[in-house]
Amino acid sequence: MKALEKSLPKAGLWQITAPGPEIGPDDVLIRVNKTGICGTDIHIWNWDDWAQRTVPVPLITGHEFAGEIVEMGRNVTGLEIGQRCSGEGHLIGRDSRQSRAGKFHLDPATRGIGVNEQGAFAEYLRLPAFNVVPLPDAIDDEIGAILDPLGNAVHTALSFDLVGEDVLITGAGPIGIMAAAVARHVGARHVVITDVNPARLDLATRVADVVPVNVAQEDMADVKARLKMREGFDVGLEMSGNQQALDQMVENLVMGGRIALLGIPPGKSPVDWSRIVFKAITIKGVYGREIFETWYKMIAMLENGLNIRPVITHRFPADDFAQGFEIMRSGSSGKVVLDWR
Ligand code: NAD
Ligand code: ZN
Repeated sequence: MKALEKSLPKAGLWQITAPGPEIGPDDVLIRVNKTGICGTDIHIWNWDDWAQRTVPVPLITGHEFAGEIVEMGRNVTGLEIGQRCSGEGHLIGRDSRQSRAGKFHLDPATRGIGVNEQGAFAEYLRLPAFNVVPLPDAIDDEIGAILDPLGNAVHTALSFDLVGEDVLITGAGPIGIMAAAVARHVGARHVVITDVNPARLDLATRVADVVPVNVAQEDMADVKARLKMREGFDVGLEMSGNQQALDQMVENLVMGGRIALLGIPPGKSPVDWSRIVFKAITIKGVYGREIFETWYKMIAMLENGLNIRPVITHRFPADDFAQGFEIMRSGSSGKVVLDWR
């Protein structure tokens, strides 16, 4: 089969012909139709410090996918050949304290497809049947291929009650933009999204009804005055990994405000803890998606009017993957989807 592999410990990915994966009794074989390129894939392409520490070579990369089940292991029940599906790319252990409590997304032994295990940038993918998420007709394969990052956005956005609240989202990358669409969908009042990249802010306004703020040019005090906000934002969703964005968020939250942190800072970064204490702020770290509560919620919202399709800005045949990666690396695109058929 055709696949994209990290074949050598240096920048780039290579198209290879690999044997199709063999499935075990509890697995399914998925014929991949569409895949999304993730920021994680860019780290792997660039072969940065994190990738060098984390990713074995060789490895087929990619973890955002949709396709159809073409083979099932002998223990698999409740699924069928031809079932369209996406799936959770985090392969969890079942022995930890949290896993045993049913909080699968908190299992410390989690391994990721396309990061630690063979991934989805391929014509075929092996996946434990447990991880399969069937797709309803209302969700086509290109949306199915970006449910993983939409799930990050949904997990973060639903961390706190947003109904009638003023929400500040820092970072208008694909995930920040999708989180803004979710905040709007579930009934937030003002949804303000910040970035320093005008192209990204422009894209945000095409996906959701948001107030875009270029923090390199505009002062947050002016934004709050313009929106007639007396105190500050009720909830902050940090989606940039940028230290200044987090400082700005803390600064502009109400007393007792709540922050969900998804963005990953590049290294250790200083935090003004006394400010957080005196403002009585609650902070929640968010990793991955709740398995499978986030999947349930996002599919329900997509079936009921949540539209995130405009966040997909580029589509390429898998053979043209290099072009897709180049556009993602430019930092100005939304989601880039590769077609494997
Ligand atoms: P991205 O890199 O495409 O977007 C981040 C955006 O933040 C960029 O548009 C950038 O211009 C903007 N930014 C930079 N400085 C800023 C500032 N001072 N204020 C406001 N915005 C600023 O990332 P993405 O793919 O949308 O992912 C969002 C974040 O979530 C990343 O940090 C990513 O690593 C992280 N992530 C975490 C998880 C998890 O499980 N915790 C999963 C996926 C992604
Ligand atoms: Zn991803």
